[in-house]
Amino acid sequence: AKVKEVQFIGSSIRPKDCPKDERPEFAMLGRSNVGKSSLINSLVRKKEVALTSKKPGKTQLINHFLVNRSWYLVDLPGYGFANAPESARMDWSSFTKGYFLNRESLVSILLLVDASVPPQKIDLDCANWIGRNNLPMTIVFTKCDKMKNKKGNRPDENIKSFQELIKESYKIYPPWIMTSSVTGLGRDELLLHMSQLRNY
Ligand code: GDP
Repeated sequence: AKVKEVQFIGSSIRPKDCPKDERPEFAMLGRSNVGKSSLINSLVRKKEVALTSKKPGKTQLINHFLVNRSWYLVDLPGYGFANAPESARMDWSSFTKGYFLNRESLVSILLLVDASVPPQKIDLDCANWIGRNNLPMTIVFTKCDKMKNKKGNRPDENIKSFQELIKESYKIYPPWIMTSSVTGLGRDELLLHMSQLRNY
């Protein structure tokens, strides 16, 4: 499960503008600041790649990256911007919903959840919506290196309570993985996991 080559294919404004392609894809979704860009950079080990999506004006777009000419990593707009009006905060549901429900080549949603904070309502809403719609998801817990540093910070408990709070929405419990872009924890496992899902 090595990343040999990454090409930025393009940004789409609407789900229907996405590349017409049957190659399998994985979509990354999460609260803004969850560590999505850092994780993409860590996965592809090419800084310039994810930075593309951080350029002003590109953050509200669906960005397609083609890996090894065989599968897509899709960077979706972050949700839950602090201080944003309710309409912008709930953006993921109107904007991304259509993509999730209609993208045939979508293998799985990678939902990024910050393990260094207790479960947040907006992440739970998102995970529950995905579960209720029977969409395949892997929970990618980010910033797991933070568990050792801060006193009183209990990421193991954060992860456990997150899982407890969403399980009613799932017929089969979704796979989950602990990662850190600082230490590289979970990087190889996540790549292997995606390769297993592609070949399934
Ligand atoms: P994005 O908005 O989801 O793309 O988040 P970024 O990748 O820009 O990261 C947001 C902030 O979290 C930055 O200050 C990062 O340095 C920090 N961060 C991201 N990943 C990690 C991680 O694995 N561990 C720690 N400790 N900090 C992280």
